Amino acid sequence: MLEEAHTSQSDVAIDLPNDSAGRKRTSIYQPEQAGLIFPEKPEFKSHAEEREYRKQHLVAACRAFAMHGFDYGFAGHLTVRDPEHPELYWTNPMCVHFSQVRMSNLILADHDGRVVEGKYAINRAGFVLHGAVHEEFPEVMAMCHAHTTYGTAWCTTGRELDMISQDAAAFYKSHAVIGASAGAVAVEKGSGLSVAQQIGRNRGVLHQNHGLLTCSHHSIDDAAFWFIALERACKQQLLVEATGIKPQVVSEKTARYSREHVGSDYIGWLHFQTLYSHIAETQPDMFA
Ligand SMILES: [Zn+2]
Repeated sequence: MLEEAHTSQSDVAIDLPNDSAGRKRTSIYQPEQAGLIFPEKPEFKSHAEEREYRKQHLVAACRAFAMHGFDYGFAGHLTVRDPEHPELYWTNPMCVHFSQVRMSNLILADHDGRVVEGKYAINRAGFVLHGAVHEEFPEVMAMCHAHTTYGTAWCTTGRELDMISQDAAAFYKSHAVIGASAGAVAVEKGSGLSVAQQIGRNRGVLHQNHGLLTCSHHSIDDAAFWFIALERACKQQLLVEATGIKPQVVSEKTARYSREHVGSDYIGWLHFQTLYSHIAETQPDMFA
């Protein structure tokens, strides 16, 4: 039997009735009843408008990482492509805490890690990995990486996640363990390439003895949410392992079904809107 290919794209065509105003629905979570308050993906009239949106959501993603305690000194980087210049990407500045990232201190960098806009320095290890993935996979829109407690701990086992829950199933056949250059700090350009080739093919990556990475073809919102979810899945896996009891796992059929319905790129984006609204309202300095 052929091994099912790993994927970072999990959106599937699901046939759903239109809403009561006749608008197409792509997810069962989109209300059938029109006119209710519900997050909508905006349409942009210009690159400038879209850039503003992507930068705001990148800042919120950094702050969401702070809220989840994902900081570890200067480690951790989040990137999103520029809408007009896809060879450039926006990222968080070096040595600025996730909670203090704001619109005015974001930096724009090229694949070689040269800062082309912004005053701050770039994280060298960040650009090696992210630059290599963005260069190798033009379809990768955004990436996240941080040295989190549970993710890094689970990564040391060199094991993929078991499908112990509906939430874990979002990563069914869409995450991988990478052992190459495990534990070595990726600061040389070549070191990012082999790892990049594996990262770009998955939604989530457990880089052994290092930490977690997520990629999205959709948005920084999607990459950030699934990063939070991946860290949580690693935590839950460790908790289950600690009991010493062999868990009942979800069947492959159910895991695939769950990934397709509650684990799509759109669902990642939608989950993140909850965080975005909360952060935008409670931390208005993010826009400064
Ligand atoms: Zn790292």
